Amino acid sequence: METTVNIHPDHQPEGHEGAGFFATTLDKAVGLARANSLWPLPFATSCCGIEFMATMASTYDLARFGSERLSFSPRQADLLMVMGTISKKMAPILRQVYEQMAEPKWVLSMGACASTGGIFDTYSVLQGIDRIIPVDVYIPGCPPRPEQVLDGILKIQELAKSEGLKRRMTPEYKAKLAAYGLE
Ligand code: SF4
Repeated sequence: METTVNIHPDHQPEGHEGAGFFATTLDKAVGLARANSLWPLPFATSCCGIEFMATMASTYDLARFGSERLSFSPRQADLLMVMGTISKKMAPILRQVYEQMAEPKWVLSMGACASTGGIFDTYSVLQGIDRIIPVDVYIPGCPPRPEQVLDGILKIQELAKSEGLKRRMTPEYKAKLAAYGLE
């Protein structure tokens, strides 16, 4: 019995297609690969980290977006996810982790504490990680729900897809890093 299987890849980049072929640009192919194979480094210090664990579990299943492979080494990660309160004492460690990640890399700030210090407006808490490293996407909430985390990941994916291969070599990107004293 003959069965017909119609497979239509989702989110196919723009290109030229016909019977038996598909052609696109290198930028778009690389962007598609990067976006769908993000390796997050979970820098989780408190309750938001628990919400992230729920996002990883079967109900929300982050693996559906190609990001189930968590990395606890900055050398093998391209998405830094900061989740929880960051004390000023920990700030230099977070920055070092960011610096050790190779390009291309993205930063996602999850929850009120990581983004602004949250309710902890005290002498010991960093009032937002964007004081020490550049942030690409912020997720609001205390804690954000797993759906919001997924939405944040999708927004990072959009960035990864739309960035040209050489965006990170542009003067704008270099100026952004320079503003943080980074190279
Ligand atoms: S934002 Fe709320 S849930 Fe997240 S780490 Fe801070 S206090 Fe905890």
